[in-house]
Amino acid sequence: MQIRVTEIPPDGRKTYEGEAAPAVLSLDSGDPFVKADRPVRFRVAASLAGGRLIVQGQMWTEALFRCSRCAEYFRLAIRDDAFERVIELPPDALSVDLTEDIRETILLRLSGYPVCRADCKGLCVRCGANLNRETCCCKPPDDGQWGALDQLKLPVKPG
Ligand SMILES: [Zn+2]
Ligand SMILES: [Zn+2]
Repeated sequence: MQIRVTEIPPDGRKTYEGEAAPAVLSLDSGDPFVKADRPVRFRVAASLAGGRLIVQGQMWTEALFRCSRCAEYFRLAIRDDAFERVIELPPDALSVDLTEDIRETILLRLSGYPVCRADCKGLCVRCGANLNRETCCCKPPDDGQWGALDQLKLPVKPG
């Protein structure tokens, strides 16, 4: 997103609307957990005040996330309705590039542990079945990992 400072009326605002290619997010295309495959759309208003550029508005996109419980991909909207940057302008500034700000704003909103839905049942820890779609015949892991942990952490002596 390029804001051309000379286009902004001294006592008004100029609206910028458009989109930035998914590549601005510089996500690793081999990242198995999130894929940015849609452009980032933005609508911002730019104004000038006391040698500063003020940019306020919204940006939004969608990304494909891999559920951290069941490993299925799902699509999720990411948006910032209160994007704001105040930039100190050098005296001879002609334009300001906010691409890095777009990137930062969207990346901050990528969840570290996305789930496809709040009640995702995840995968069976024994057979790997997707428990959202099927019921497997494994017993609940009651004597498994948690049992072992309990034995480790509770050396309580009676009396
Ligand atoms: Zn899931
Ligand atoms: Zn199972």
